Amino acid sequence: MDRAKLPRPNTFAGLSLILDRVAERRDESAWIAEQARSAKARYLLLDAAGEAFMQKDFLQQGGEALRWLDANEREQLLGDTPASLLGIANQRPHFMLVLDDATRIDTLETALDARRVGLRAAGLQLSADEAGLFAYAKGLSHWQRETRYCAHCGFPLLLVAAGHRARCTNPEDCGRLHFPRTDAAVIMLVEHDGACLLGRQAGWPPGRYSTLAGFVEPGESLEDAVRREVAEEAGVIVDEVRYHSSQPWPMPASLMVGFIATAVSRQISKRDHELEDARWFTPKQIVDGLADGSFLPSMALSVSYHLLAHWLQQRAGLDLDELVANSNSR
Ligand SMILES: [Zn+2]
Repeated sequence: MDRAKLPRPNTFAGLSLILDRVAERRDESAWIAEQARSAKARYLLLDAAGEAFMQKDFLQQGGEALRWLDANEREQLLGDTPASLLGIANQRPHFMLVLDDATRIDTLETALDARRVGLRAAGLQLSADEAGLFAYAKGLSHWQRETRYCAHCGFPLLLVAAGHRARCTNPEDCGRLHFPRTDAAVIMLVEHDGACLLGRQAGWPPGRYSTLAGFVEPGESLEDAVRREVAEEAGVIVDEVRYHSSQPWPMPASLMVGFIATAVSRQISKRDHELEDARWFTPKQIVDGLADGSFLPSMALSVSYHLLAHWLQQRAGLDLDELVANSNSR
């Protein structure tokens, strides 16, 4: 099996195809230190906002776009700034470094001939592998930054396990371990008899419609969250809910879980005020809307886009990428 050829429907997903997280070795500090010193080691540098260093002229060069530092550069430019181990890819240990000092990071940007780019902007420019690594690093760094005090006793936390756990420094009464958190959100394309339900928020660009979405609540299954969100946002009753695919979405800490759901009727009545509009679209309405510019899908790196693309392909044999490219070339 050629793992590189396995389907990766969603941007940022599929990192397991190239990366071994070596989670079982995160507590072996001597081994981690050896990896960090290795000539094969590479470091992704993030700033306090989670933006990463990218090669300034990568579009001309092709190939890798992130500006990875090697062990020498790390030592010379960053000294012993703590690094977190992401894992091993292509026999090379990959680490993440976070630098909060804004002045120093500006200097480094010049020294390394790099520019900082956010994940949302970089997502579609990077290869699938680099996009996945950047998303992973951004999610981990956000958790590290936001998790500095013990939620149980208030003592400061200390990062352990190569950056993947935080231990409470109150050994007498607490000493608890804290783990990176992921917030599950459901996102669903709801269909009924040849049409799909899409909604828009007031602040979006004109014509943009997206699948409905929302966070999973405590005590709720993913399927129940799909039914509740669709009922709240559009007043539509859903029966069958089928899993489609998932996407890490570290903006800042979500996992988007995508579904295709079937509605029992087309009756729409908005119950909350999250959406400015919700309506049913047939494939023909989407094709016509893309052609005359009145319909805009979600960003191509979102699972929402892929749910719509899958549905148009399955139900009408249409290629959303092609439709969008044609509408842009007008
Ligand atoms: Zn504690």
